[in-house]
This record gives sequence, C-alpha cells and structure tokens, in this order.
Amino acid sequence: MERPLTAHIRPDRTPLDLAAYEVVGGYRALRQALKEMAPADVIATVKDSGLRGRGGAGFPTGLKWSFVPAGPQAPRPKYLLCNADEMEPGTFKDRLLLESTPHQLIEGMILTAYAIGAEEAYIFLRWAYHEAAATLRRSLAEARAAGYIGRNILGSGFDCEIDVHVSGGRYICGEETGLISALEGRRANPRNKPPFPPVAGFLGRPAIVNNVETLCNIPPIVERGAAWFKGLSLTADAGTKLYGASGRVKRPGLWELPLGTPIREVLEEHAGGMREGYRFRGLLPGGASTDFLVEQHLDVPMDFSSLEQAGSRLGTATMIVLDDRTCPVGATINLMRFFAQESCGWCTPCRDGLPWVVRTLVAFELGDGREEDLRLLEHHCRLLGPGFTYCALAPGAVEPLQSALKYFREDFLRHIRERGCPWA
Ligand code: SF4
Repeated sequence: MERPLTAHIRPDRTPLDLAAYEVVGGYRALRQALKEMAPADVIATVKDSGLRGRGGAGFPTGLKWSFVPAGPQAPRPKYLLCNADEMEPGTFKDRLLLESTPHQLIEGMILTAYAIGAEEAYIFLRWAYHEAAATLRRSLAEARAAGYIGRNILGSGFDCEIDVHVSGGRYICGEETGLISALEGRRANPRNKPPFPPVAGFLGRPAIVNNVETLCNIPPIVERGAAWFKGLSLTADAGTKLYGASGRVKRPGLWELPLGTPIREVLEEHAGGMREGYRFRGLLPGGASTDFLVEQHLDVPMDFSSLEQAGSRLGTATMIVLDDRTCPVGATINLMRFFAQESCGWCTPCRDGLPWVVRTLVAFELGDGREEDLRLLEHHCRLLGPGFTYCALAPGAVEPLQSALKYFREDFLRHIRERGCPWA
C-alpha cells in the first residue's frame, strides 16, 4: 500500500531535514513543474486528481484554485495561506506532518503558489504547536538557502516568500475568513461571502486558504499524476487520508490509509478495538463538529459521500470514540461548552443559543431535565443550523447534539426518570 504523505516519516518522528528530504525525492516535483509545466497545467493536474480539501469542508482543491484571477490584468499581489490552526477537538493529524515532514508542506506550498501566481505565502499555525513552529522556521531557512523559496526560484523567474504566523489561539481563527481577519491583525470574525477569498481575500487581494494535509498531497500528485492519485483510494473519492482515533480504544493514533477505508477497519485493525472493560457506543467520525454514528454504521466507508449518506461528515477523519461507561449527555455537554466558549459572538443565534443549549443540557445532568426540553433542543438545532449564521461554527456545533438526541434519546430519558445522571 502506498503512503505518499507518511512513507518517509521516521519512526521516532524527528523531522526530515532538507538533505534527507532530497534523498527520498524531495523537491523533484517542484523542479519538474517549474521546468515543464505552466501554472494552468498544475491546476489542471490537481483538478483531474480529484483531490478534495482535507481540513474538513472537502471542497475540490483544483476547482478552488481555478477561481483565482489569472493573467496580466489580475489583481496583485496574490496570497497563499496555509491553514495549520488545528484546533478541532480530537484532531491531531496536521501536527504529525508539520513536525515530521516540514519540507513536503513547503514544497506543496511553493507548487500551489506557482499554480495560482502567489508571491507571498503564510503558514497560520496553531498557538500551541511550539515544536512545529521551530521546525518550520528551521526548514524554511534551509529551503531559502537552497533556492527553493525567495526570488527567481531555481532560475525560473518565479518569486515566492513563505513566513510562519502563530495564531492568537481561538478556534474561530481556523475558519477560512476568520483566519484572514486574524492575519490582517483584526478581531478574528468570519466574513460574509461573497466576495469569496480566491477573488478578494487577504488585504482585499486574491487568497487561497488550504489545509496542511491538502498541501502535502500536491508534490506527489504533480510528480506521479492524477490517475495514480485516483487509484490510491477504495471508493470514488481520490487519494489516501490520515485517519485517527481517540477515546477508550487500545491504540489511539494516526494511520495513512486509502480513502474509503471502512470505519470498522480503522477502529478494530488499526486502533486495536475497545479497551478491556469498555464497549463501543458510538463515534464522531471527523472531529467534534460531526454527527455521531453508531454500531449500524461500522461498515460505512470513511469517505466524503458515504459518510454524508450515513448522516455525518468525513470532517478531519480523526474519530472520537464513545464508550459505554461515558455518559453521552455529559460528553455532549463537554462539546457544547467548547463551542459556546469559542463562539466569536458575531451573530445572535450562535452567541446566545449555544450557552442556552449548555444550560439546558446541564439541567438534565442535575435532574431538572424535562421531556419538552428535548423538543426545544431539537428546535435549537434547526435555529443554529445552516443558513442562520455567518459561519459554520454553530451548524457544526449542533451536529453532535442533533445526533445524540437521535441515537442516545433513551439516555436523555433516563436522566429525566432517574432525576440525574445515571453515570454519576
Ligand atoms: Fe461567530 Fe458563531 Fe456567528 Fe460563526 S456562527 S460568525 S462563530 S457568532
């Protein structure tokens, strides 16, 4: 099985420096593209590959790039922004790539910048990733000294600089337009769209925001082609994916597997199944802002369309597993508290609705829950859903709640009957 993202990561995860990365073929794709491909060819290859964004939304990457105005009349400068603000609870996949294979990200960024004509690029990094910040700065200096970034890259006439920006540390900074606001030095409020960032983003100029894992896929796609990339997956969605598992499984961790690997295989073969004394009750397949799935979904392939058909989302593909000794109501409160705290406060349903949801759920834990509260919670899930807020934080926040009300309803009713939490 081919693993284009992690094949060269060392077992102890010490980062590949420039020399080690070049030994395993690093920067070959960049040399090839600058010599043989026009920017439009790079965009066409990535479009044909079927690569979809790996940050959570899953938008087709090449299509996104094609929205950036091209040609001599296009506004300048243009920007590439790497979203490395990995703040989704339960998600730790980009950290592995940032810390262990930094040059693959840098090569992917230069290729992307070349494709869209960006002269400046920034890595917007999660505040807590101190090790990644040091590794990236060291690697950028190596790449600059070797002529892979800066002016007239490898004699091609193409210029591009890359810098690291460490986030102020709020979840909303990872939202595409919130990230842009933060990078501009403003409060990290998301923005109304249109205009979309590829047309008018950072400082009013065209900007592409791509996730770390998305960008790390670019060098192998450019070097080996779209058909090869499509052939890596088990289903219609192309490529491999970093899958993760946390919770009470025997071996929590991360694995690069073909896209479309069934949930059961990730859970049982790679994560080792449940720990002794715990039984599986459900999971959030793609981080905290995805819907719960349960036993009946274990054979669903973990790809974009299959998980949507099952009523959830691939999200970041790092699953959080719920066991039978954890109260599903308490687990949902934990998530809702996080989202209520991280709301930027820009729109009323999210700013006031999420704390109301938390108070209502806490009442169940304290023995004050009522059956009519379940209907009110469902009503709030609709009010906080798509179309009522500026950004996707609130609709994402209610995904675990709406699915907990569906799959763990009996647990909510037990809280009412037993006047408090049965797990307390
Ligand atoms: Fe801010 Fe929440 Fe509105 Fe998003 S949904 S803009 S986080 S208040």
